[in-house]
Amino acid sequence: MVKLIIAIDDTDSNDGMCTTYIMTLIIEYLKGNNFEIIDFPRLVRLNPSIPYKTRGNAALSIEININEKNYTVDKNKIINFIIKLIKEKSMVSSKNTNPGSIFLEEKQYQIIKDTLKNFYFKALRDIVTIKEAMSIVIEYNINHFLLKNGRGIIGSLAAAGYILISNDIKDYTYELLTYRDSNKFGSKRFFFEDTFIIFDKKTSPKTWDTIDYSKKKKLICISHSKDPVLYGIRGNDYNILNSSKNYLISEHVDKYCIFKTNQSTDEHIINIDSFSKMKNLCSYRIKGIVDNKSRTIIGGHVFIDIKDKYGVIFTCAAYEKTGNFRKIIQKLIPGDIIEVFGSFKNNTVNLEKINIIFLNKEYITENPRCHICGHKMKSRGTNKGYKCKKCKIITNEKIISEKIRDINIGYYEVTPDARRHLSKPIIRIKN
Ligand code: ATP
Repeated sequence: MVKLIIAIDDTDSNDGMCTTYIMTLIIEYLKGNNFEIIDFPRLVRLNPSIPYKTRGNAALSIEININEKNYTVDKNKIINFIIKLIKEKSMVSSKNTNPGSIFLEEKQYQIIKDTLKNFYFKALRDIVTIKEAMSIVIEYNINHFLLKNGRGIIGSLAAAGYILISNDIKDYTYELLTYRDSNKFGSKRFFFEDTFIIFDKKTSPKTWDTIDYSKKKKLICISHSKDPVLYGIRGNDYNILNSSKNYLISEHVDKYCIFKTNQSTDEHIINIDSFSKMKNLCSYRIKGIVDNKSRTIIGGHVFIDIKDKYGVIFTCAAYEKTGNFRKIIQKLIPGDIIEVFGSFKNNTVNLEKINIIFLNKEYITENPRCHICGHKMKSRGTNKGYKCKKCKIITNEKIISEKIRDINIGYYEVTPDARRHLSKPIIRIKN
């Protein structure tokens, strides 16, 4: 047997299609022609701040075994099928759809492994140019297929790299994606909400992001755009995902596929200790001390300033979309020590999650009570002390007491519907 990695990216647009669906069609073809699929297909999320993305910056890859005897004939047959499929299904009329695919042969694995490992991490955490991707393709003579400017070659190389480093990857999750009948694409989706709620209650924390309870039980696992996806269930137990189709009642599921993925792992996050090391469009985890109380602007967006250990101050934002998470940010006070997780864009860290490490003491000042009658004394004006109206007693001493902070140390995150695909939910940190 000889191995071959197939990777594809950038085939869809907001008007329809989904690269995961194209990969599912490829898998259908491969299985139908008795090609052995090794491990799971991979659904790789890359830098979530990339402006070219349609939705979640996904790229797809798969590894198969081809019989040595017919290798060249079969390989070419597979490649031709995939090229035809990409030409037929890609939404190339959209400006931002630039398909790219690669076919990496086993004889190339060892010589390219380190290069693609670095490339995967760069595409995950930084910005890559088409030129950089093409120079790898040319240097290693990788079989590829591009349409338009071929930007999808970036995601394809990264997704192929993700398979090559499988043995080094300690943290991964799964996602089951189900697809609609093709004659339903673009129409309203039909499903029984209750079955999803029951399923979620039964399977959490082994599954997550099915429902957002903070938003009137909003089903976030259901797609709402014109793409072929019906719903997606995320989890860390393959068997639960595989059986979920039997519990969830919806319109007819035409196809489904379970992908191994880097979703929900925080793999996009770079640990740093200074704000000055941040680069636009990259995501970070950094510790700092709250510098002032938060400010809320029109639209409900909340901003707070944090000081790093070198004294550099940076602004973090919890946008309206992040729901109740904003209330946590509003409760922070100067002196609190927190770790922030988020992407850096336009000089602001867009918060995905925080970890409160230390809560500073907060004090409140109250008017003293009269030691004779026990009533609250009245202020006599700024710096003039207090007076009991009834007993005429005067004092300068005010009461300073510690306020109970209605917030605890630990992790807090944005609501599930605002979560980035790559962000690790707290449920995965705790369990
Ligand atoms: P799809 O389902 O089609 O994959 P998507 O929301 O995942 O939709 P894409 O359509 O793939 O987004 O668009 C993302 C584009 O950005 C792809 O062409 C991909 O190759 C490219 N890309 C991904 N990561 C990076 C990166 N770090 N730097 C530059 N380009 C990137």
